[in-house]
Amino acid sequence: MPPEATPLAERLAGLIAATGPISLAQYMAEANAHYYASRDPLGAEGDFVTAPEISQMFGELAGLWLTDLWTRVGSPQDAHYVELGPGRGTLAEDALRAMRAVRFEPPIHLVETSPVLRQNQATRLPTARWHDDIDSLPETGPLLVVANEFFDALPIRQVLKTDKGWREIMVDHRDDRFVPVSSGPALDDLVPEPLRDAPEGSIIETSPAVESAARALAQRIAKQGGAALIVDYGYEGLATGDTLQAVSRHEHADVFAEPGERDLTAHVNFAVLDAVGRGEGLTVHGPIGQGQWLESLGIGARTAALVKAAPYQQEELITARNRLTRADEMGTLFKALAMTGKDWPVPAAF
Ligand code: SAH
Repeated sequence: MPPEATPLAERLAGLIAATGPISLAQYMAEANAHYYASRDPLGAEGDFVTAPEISQMFGELAGLWLTDLWTRVGSPQDAHYVELGPGRGTLAEDALRAMRAVRFEPPIHLVETSPVLRQNQATRLPTARWHDDIDSLPETGPLLVVANEFFDALPIRQVLKTDKGWREIMVDHRDDRFVPVSSGPALDDLVPEPLRDAPEGSIIETSPAVESAARALAQRIAKQGGAALIVDYGYEGLATGDTLQAVSRHEHADVFAEPGERDLTAHVNFAVLDAVGRGEGLTVHGPIGQGQWLESLGIGARTAALVKAAPYQQEELITARNRLTRADEMGTLFKALAMTGKDWPVPAAF
Protein backbone atom coordinates (compact mmCIF):
# COMPACT_ATOMS: atom_id res chain seq x y z
CA MET A 1 0.00 0.00 0.00
CA PRO A 2 1.29 3.52 -0.76
CA PRO A 3 1.93 5.58 2.41
CA GLU A 4 -1.03 7.89 1.69
CA ALA A 5 -3.50 4.99 1.44
CA THR A 6 -6.78 5.70 3.21
CA PRO A 7 -8.28 3.30 5.77
CA LEU A 8 -11.04 2.41 3.27
CA ALA A 9 -8.47 1.68 0.53
CA GLU A 10 -6.61 -0.57 2.97
CA ARG A 11 -9.77 -2.37 3.97
CA LEU A 12 -10.87 -2.95 0.35
CA ALA A 13 -7.37 -4.11 -0.61
CA GLY A 14 -7.42 -6.55 2.32
CA LEU A 15 -10.82 -7.84 1.29
CA ILE A 16 -9.70 -8.38 -2.31
CA ALA A 17 -6.50 -10.11 -1.15
CA ALA A 18 -8.60 -12.48 0.96
CA THR A 19 -11.52 -13.22 -1.36
CA GLY A 20 -10.62 -12.01 -4.86
CA PRO A 21 -11.96 -9.11 -6.94
CA ILE A 22 -15.10 -7.37 -5.64
CA SER A 23 -18.01 -6.17 -7.75
CA LEU A 24 -17.97 -2.64 -9.09
CA ALA A 25 -21.26 -2.05 -7.24
CA GLN A 26 -19.66 -2.96 -3.92
CA TYR A 27 -16.66 -0.73 -4.66
CA MET A 28 -18.92 2.20 -5.56
CA ALA A 29 -21.28 1.65 -2.61
CA GLU A 30 -18.45 1.53 -0.06
CA ALA A 31 -16.58 4.46 -1.63
CA ASN A 32 -19.66 6.70 -1.67
CA ALA A 33 -20.82 5.67 1.80
CA HIS A 34 -17.44 6.75 3.17
CA TYR A 35 -17.31 9.85 0.98
CA TYR A 36 -20.69 11.26 2.02
CA ALA A 37 -20.37 10.19 5.65
CA SER A 38 -17.12 12.09 6.10
CA ARG A 39 -17.76 15.53 4.58
CA ASP A 40 -20.06 18.12 3.05
CA PRO A 41 -19.00 17.84 -0.59
CA LEU A 42 -21.20 20.62 -1.98
CA GLY A 43 -20.52 24.19 -3.01
CA ALA A 44 -17.72 26.25 -4.50
CA GLU A 45 -15.29 25.15 -1.76
CA GLY A 46 -16.24 21.49 -2.08
CA ASP A 47 -16.14 18.98 -4.91
CA PHE A 48 -19.27 19.79 -6.92
CA VAL A 49 -22.21 22.17 -7.22
CA THR A 50 -25.84 21.11 -7.72
CA ALA A 51 -28.84 23.00 -9.12
CA PRO A 52 -30.29 24.09 -5.74
CA GLU A 53 -26.84 25.40 -4.75
CA ILE A 54 -26.69 27.46 -7.95
CA SER A 55 -29.90 29.33 -7.26
CA GLN A 56 -32.81 29.49 -4.81
CA MET A 57 -35.09 29.50 -7.87
CA PHE A 58 -34.63 25.75 -8.36
CA GLY A 59 -36.02 24.80 -4.94
CA GLU A 60 -38.71 27.47 -5.06
CA LEU A 61 -40.05 26.21 -8.37
CA ALA A 62 -39.94 22.60 -7.11
CA GLY A 63 -41.96 23.69 -4.06
CA LEU A 64 -44.53 25.51 -6.18
CA TRP A 65 -44.75 22.53 -8.54
CA LEU A 66 -45.62 20.28 -5.59
CA THR A 67 -48.04 22.81 -4.10
CA ASP A 68 -49.89 23.16 -7.40
CA LEU A 69 -50.42 19.38 -7.57
CA TRP A 70 -51.42 19.20 -3.92
CA THR A 71 -53.97 22.00 -4.37
CA ARG A 72 -55.48 20.31 -7.41
CA VAL A 73 -56.08 17.06 -5.50
CA GLY A 74 -57.99 18.98 -2.83
CA SER A 75 -55.20 19.97 -0.39
CA PRO A 76 -55.04 16.74 1.66
CA GLN A 77 -53.98 17.78 5.18
CA ASP A 78 -52.06 14.57 5.87
CA ALA A 79 -49.53 15.05 3.03
CA HIS A 80 -45.77 14.82 3.77
CA TYR A 81 -42.80 16.54 2.17
CA VAL A 82 -40.13 13.92 1.48
CA GLU A 83 -36.67 14.42 0.06
CA LEU A 84 -34.16 11.76 -0.93
CA GLY A 85 -30.50 12.70 -0.49
CA PRO A 86 -31.13 16.34 0.48
CA GLY A 87 -27.46 17.41 0.59
CA ARG A 88 -27.24 20.66 2.55
CA GLY A 89 -31.03 20.99 2.78
CA THR A 90 -30.98 23.99 0.47
CA LEU A 91 -33.58 22.67 -1.95
CA ALA A 92 -35.95 21.74 0.89
CA GLU A 93 -35.48 25.10 2.59
CA ASP A 94 -36.28 27.01 -0.62
CA ALA A 95 -39.17 24.69 -1.56
CA LEU A 96 -40.76 24.82 1.89
CA ARG A 97 -40.46 28.62 2.06
CA ALA A 98 -42.30 28.89 -1.27
CA MET A 99 -44.92 26.42 0.01
CA ARG A 100 -45.36 28.27 3.30
CA ALA A 101 -46.12 31.48 1.39
CA VAL A 102 -49.28 29.75 0.17
CA ARG A 103 -50.01 28.28 3.62
CA PHE A 104 -48.87 24.74 2.90
CA GLU A 105 -46.66 23.46 5.72
CA PRO A 106 -46.35 19.69 5.54
CA PRO A 107 -44.16 17.70 7.93
CA ILE A 108 -40.64 17.17 6.58
CA HIS A 109 -39.04 13.76 6.05
CA LEU A 110 -35.46 13.46 4.86
CA VAL A 111 -33.93 10.20 3.64
CA GLU A 112 -30.22 10.68 4.32
CA THR A 113 -27.47 8.32 5.39
CA SER A 114 -24.64 10.80 5.99
CA PRO A 115 -24.34 12.00 9.60
CA VAL A 116 -22.39 15.08 8.51
CA LEU A 117 -25.07 16.11 6.01
CA ARG A 118 -27.87 15.33 8.49
CA GLN A 119 -26.30 17.85 10.87
CA ASN A 120 -26.02 20.36 8.08
CA GLN A 121 -29.68 19.80 7.14
CA ALA A 122 -30.76 20.18 10.77
CA THR A 123 -29.51 23.77 10.92
CA ARG A 124 -31.85 24.69 8.06
CA LEU A 125 -34.70 22.29 8.81
CA PRO A 126 -34.85 21.85 12.59
CA THR A 127 -38.30 20.22 12.54
CA ALA A 128 -37.40 17.52 10.01
CA ARG A 129 -37.39 13.80 10.72
CA TRP A 130 -34.60 11.67 9.28
CA HIS A 131 -34.78 8.22 7.72
CA ASP A 132 -32.10 5.72 6.71
CA ASP A 133 -34.18 4.57 3.78
CA ILE A 134 -37.58 4.79 2.12
CA ASP A 135 -39.06 1.94 4.18
CA SER A 136 -39.37 3.95 7.39
CA LEU A 137 -41.29 6.87 5.82
CA PRO A 138 -44.80 7.40 7.27
CA GLU A 139 -47.27 4.83 6.00
CA THR A 140 -50.32 7.05 5.74
CA GLY A 141 -50.90 10.27 3.84
CA PRO A 142 -49.75 11.25 0.36
CA LEU A 143 -45.99 11.57 -0.15
CA LEU A 144 -44.70 14.60 -2.07
CA VAL A 145 -41.20 13.54 -2.97
CA VAL A 146 -38.21 15.35 -4.44
CA ALA A 147 -34.94 13.67 -5.44
CA ASN A 148 -32.28 15.84 -7.05
CA GLU A 149 -29.00 14.13 -7.90
CA PHE A 150 -29.84 11.24 -5.57
CA PHE A 151 -30.11 8.30 -7.97
CA ASP A 152 -26.79 9.09 -9.70
CA ALA A 153 -24.95 8.38 -6.44
CA LEU A 154 -26.32 4.83 -6.11
CA PRO A 155 -24.04 1.93 -7.10
CA ILE A 156 -24.05 0.48 -10.60
CA ARG A 157 -22.91 -2.76 -12.20
CA GLN A 158 -21.12 -2.82 -15.54
CA VAL A 159 -20.83 -5.67 -18.02
CA LEU A 160 -18.20 -5.62 -20.74
CA LYS A 161 -18.33 -7.37 -24.12
CA THR A 162 -15.15 -9.44 -24.33
CA ASP A 163 -13.98 -11.96 -26.91
CA LYS A 164 -15.58 -14.58 -24.64
CA GLY A 165 -18.94 -12.84 -24.36
CA TRP A 166 -20.35 -10.47 -21.75
CA ARG A 167 -18.46 -10.41 -18.44
CA GLU A 168 -19.11 -8.45 -15.27
CA ILE A 169 -16.52 -5.80 -14.46
CA MET A 170 -15.00 -6.43 -11.05
CA VAL A 171 -12.43 -4.44 -9.09
CA ASP A 172 -9.06 -6.02 -8.39
CA HIS A 173 -6.06 -4.69 -6.48
CA ARG A 174 -2.69 -5.06 -8.21
CA ASP A 175 0.63 -3.31 -7.65
CA ASP A 176 -0.93 -1.04 -5.04
CA ARG A 177 -3.70 0.09 -7.36
CA PHE A 178 -7.36 -0.67 -7.80
CA VAL A 179 -8.06 -1.79 -11.37
CA PRO A 180 -11.19 -2.82 -13.26
CA VAL A 181 -11.00 -6.39 -14.57
CA SER A 182 -13.42 -8.39 -16.65
CA SER A 183 -12.91 -11.60 -14.75
CA GLY A 184 -16.47 -11.70 -13.51
CA PRO A 185 -19.02 -14.37 -14.39
CA ALA A 186 -20.52 -14.71 -17.86
CA LEU A 187 -23.60 -12.53 -17.97
CA ASP A 188 -24.92 -12.82 -21.51
CA ASP A 189 -28.39 -13.60 -20.21
CA LEU A 190 -28.56 -10.26 -18.39
CA VAL A 191 -27.83 -8.22 -21.50
CA PRO A 192 -30.95 -6.97 -23.30
CA GLU A 193 -31.42 -8.88 -26.57
CA PRO A 194 -30.95 -5.90 -28.93
CA LEU A 195 -27.58 -5.09 -27.33
CA ARG A 196 -26.14 -8.60 -27.24
CA ASP A 197 -24.31 -8.23 -30.54
CA ALA A 198 -22.66 -4.94 -29.58
CA PRO A 199 -18.99 -4.77 -30.58
CA GLU A 200 -16.21 -6.01 -28.30
CA GLY A 201 -15.31 -3.37 -25.73
CA SER A 202 -18.92 -2.19 -25.30
CA ILE A 203 -20.08 -1.59 -21.73
CA ILE A 204 -23.62 -1.84 -20.41
CA GLU A 205 -24.63 -0.46 -17.04
CA THR A 206 -27.40 -1.58 -14.75
CA SER A 207 -28.25 -0.53 -11.23
CA PRO A 208 -30.15 -2.86 -8.94
CA ALA A 209 -29.88 -0.15 -6.25
CA VAL A 210 -31.62 2.43 -8.46
CA GLU A 211 -34.32 -0.08 -9.34
CA SER A 212 -35.02 -1.10 -5.79
CA ALA A 213 -35.12 2.48 -4.43
CA ALA A 214 -37.42 3.52 -7.29
CA ARG A 215 -39.64 0.50 -6.65
CA ALA A 216 -39.90 1.15 -2.91
CA LEU A 217 -40.87 4.75 -3.63
CA ALA A 218 -43.37 3.89 -6.36
CA GLN A 219 -45.05 1.26 -4.16
CA ARG A 220 -45.58 3.82 -1.42
CA ILE A 221 -47.02 6.42 -3.79
CA ALA A 222 -49.28 3.78 -5.33
CA LYS A 223 -50.58 2.90 -1.85
CA GLN A 224 -50.70 6.33 -0.19
CA GLY A 225 -51.06 8.74 -3.11
CA GLY A 226 -48.64 11.49 -3.94
CA ALA A 227 -46.05 12.38 -6.51
CA ALA A 228 -42.31 12.23 -7.02
CA LEU A 229 -40.08 14.62 -8.89
CA ILE A 230 -36.80 13.04 -9.93
CA VAL A 231 -34.11 15.25 -11.44
CA ASP A 232 -30.79 13.84 -12.50
CA TYR A 233 -28.41 13.55 -15.39
CA GLY A 234 -29.01 10.58 -17.55
CA TYR A 235 -30.32 8.91 -20.67
CA GLU A 236 -33.31 6.98 -21.86
CA GLY A 237 -33.53 3.50 -23.21
CA LEU A 238 -31.00 0.98 -24.36
CA ALA A 239 -27.51 2.35 -24.47
CA THR A 240 -23.94 1.23 -24.16
CA GLY A 241 -21.17 3.25 -22.61
CA ASP A 242 -19.20 3.78 -19.44
CA THR A 243 -20.72 6.70 -17.52
CA LEU A 244 -19.06 6.06 -14.18
CA GLN A 245 -17.16 9.17 -13.14
CA ALA A 246 -15.29 10.60 -10.22
CA VAL A 247 -15.25 14.27 -9.36
CA SER A 248 -12.96 16.05 -6.94
CA ARG A 249 -12.65 19.84 -6.53
CA HIS A 250 -14.81 20.41 -9.62
CA GLU A 251 -12.46 18.33 -11.81
CA HIS A 252 -12.80 14.85 -13.24
CA ALA A 253 -10.69 12.37 -11.36
CA ASP A 254 -9.68 8.70 -11.50
CA VAL A 255 -12.56 6.44 -10.43
CA PHE A 256 -10.14 3.85 -9.07
CA ALA A 257 -7.83 6.10 -7.08
CA GLU A 258 -8.45 6.94 -3.40
CA PRO A 259 -11.84 5.25 -2.94
CA GLY A 260 -14.00 7.24 -0.54
CA GLU A 261 -12.24 10.54 -1.24
CA ARG A 262 -14.07 11.43 -4.49
CA ASP A 263 -17.68 11.59 -5.53
CA LEU A 264 -18.58 8.61 -7.73
CA THR A 265 -21.65 8.94 -9.94
CA ALA A 266 -23.17 7.31 -13.00
CA HIS A 267 -25.80 8.50 -15.44
CA VAL A 268 -29.33 7.46 -14.53
CA ASN A 269 -31.31 5.34 -16.99
CA PHE A 270 -34.69 7.11 -17.03
CA ALA A 271 -36.25 4.23 -18.95
CA VAL A 272 -35.75 2.09 -15.85
CA LEU A 273 -37.49 4.66 -13.62
CA ASP A 274 -40.31 4.81 -16.17
CA ALA A 275 -40.73 1.03 -16.27
CA VAL A 276 -40.64 0.69 -12.48
CA GLY A 277 -43.18 3.49 -11.99
CA ARG A 278 -45.59 2.09 -14.55
CA GLY A 279 -45.07 -1.41 -13.24
CA GLU A 280 -46.32 -0.27 -9.83
CA GLY A 281 -49.41 1.38 -11.35
CA LEU A 282 -48.25 5.01 -11.33
CA THR A 283 -48.48 7.50 -14.17
CA VAL A 284 -45.04 8.54 -15.36
CA HIS A 285 -44.49 11.94 -16.98
CA GLY A 286 -41.41 12.85 -19.02
CA PRO A 287 -38.52 12.87 -18.73
CA ILE A 288 -38.12 16.38 -20.09
CA GLY A 289 -35.00 18.53 -19.99
CA GLN A 290 -34.38 20.42 -16.75
CA GLY A 291 -34.28 23.61 -18.86
CA GLN A 292 -37.72 22.96 -20.34
CA TRP A 293 -39.11 22.09 -16.91
CA LEU A 294 -37.82 25.31 -15.31
CA GLU A 295 -38.83 27.50 -18.26
CA SER A 296 -42.38 26.10 -18.25
CA LEU A 297 -42.64 26.77 -14.52
CA GLY A 298 -41.70 30.40 -15.07
CA ILE A 299 -38.03 30.72 -14.18
CA GLY A 300 -37.96 33.72 -16.54
CA ALA A 301 -40.57 35.61 -14.53
CA ARG A 302 -39.00 34.53 -11.23
CA THR A 303 -35.59 35.81 -12.38
CA ALA A 304 -37.15 39.14 -13.36
CA ALA A 305 -38.91 39.46 -9.98
CA LEU A 306 -35.69 38.74 -8.07
CA VAL A 307 -33.76 41.22 -10.23
CA LYS A 308 -36.38 43.86 -9.49
CA ALA A 309 -36.04 43.23 -5.75
CA ALA A 310 -32.23 43.21 -5.87
CA PRO A 311 -30.98 45.02 -8.99
CA TYR A 312 -27.34 44.73 -7.85
CA GLN A 313 -27.67 40.94 -8.26
CA GLN A 314 -28.90 41.12 -11.85
CA GLU A 315 -25.83 39.58 -13.44
CA GLU A 316 -25.59 36.77 -10.88
CA LEU A 317 -29.28 35.88 -11.27
CA ILE A 318 -29.15 35.81 -15.06
CA THR A 319 -26.00 33.70 -15.00
CA ALA A 320 -27.70 31.24 -12.62
CA ARG A 321 -30.79 30.96 -14.80
CA ASN A 322 -28.60 30.30 -17.84
CA ARG A 323 -26.58 27.64 -16.04
CA LEU A 324 -29.72 25.83 -14.99
CA THR A 325 -31.57 26.01 -18.30
CA ARG A 326 -29.27 26.32 -21.30
CA ALA A 327 -28.82 23.31 -23.54
CA ASP A 328 -25.02 23.65 -23.43
CA GLU A 329 -25.06 23.80 -19.61
CA MET A 330 -27.47 21.80 -17.36
CA GLY A 331 -30.61 22.28 -19.45
CA THR A 332 -30.74 19.05 -21.45
CA LEU A 333 -28.27 16.61 -19.88
CA PHE A 334 -30.23 16.99 -16.65
CA LYS A 335 -33.75 15.67 -16.93
CA ALA A 336 -36.91 15.83 -14.86
CA LEU A 337 -39.26 12.87 -14.52
CA ALA A 338 -42.44 12.81 -12.48
CA MET A 339 -44.45 9.91 -11.10
CA THR A 340 -47.97 10.48 -9.82
CA GLY A 341 -50.42 8.29 -7.96
CA LYS A 342 -53.52 6.94 -9.61
CA ASP A 343 -56.18 9.67 -9.98
CA TRP A 344 -53.63 12.43 -9.40
CA PRO A 345 -53.62 15.15 -12.09
CA VAL A 346 -50.93 15.73 -14.71
CA PRO A 347 -48.22 17.87 -13.06
CA ALA A 348 -47.35 21.34 -14.35
CA ALA A 349 -44.73 21.51 -17.12
CA PHE A 350 -45.21 17.89 -18.27
N1 SAH B 1 -29.94 16.69 -3.45
C1 SAH B 1 -28.79 17.47 -3.00
C2 SAH B 1 -27.52 16.60 -2.78
C3 SAH B 1 -27.09 15.70 -3.88
S1 SAH B 1 -25.63 14.77 -3.42
C4 SAH B 1 -28.53 18.60 -3.96
O1 SAH B 1 -29.13 18.61 -5.02
O2 SAH B 1 -27.72 19.46 -3.63
C5 SAH B 1 -26.30 13.17 -2.99
C6 SAH B 1 -27.06 13.14 -1.70
O3 SAH B 1 -27.57 11.80 -1.52
C7 SAH B 1 -26.28 13.43 -0.44
O4 SAH B 1 -27.12 14.08 0.49
C8 SAH B 1 -25.88 12.03 0.03
O5 SAH B 1 -25.50 11.96 1.37
C9 SAH B 1 -27.16 11.28 -0.27
N2 SAH B 1 -27.02 9.82 -0.43
C10 SAH B 1 -26.13 9.17 -1.20
N3 SAH B 1 -26.35 7.83 -1.15
C11 SAH B 1 -27.41 7.66 -0.33
C12 SAH B 1 -28.14 6.50 0.12
N4 SAH B 1 -27.80 5.28 -0.27
N5 SAH B 1 -29.18 6.70 0.96
C13 SAH B 1 -29.53 7.95 1.36
N6 SAH B 1 -28.89 9.06 0.95
C14 SAH B 1 -27.84 8.92 0.13
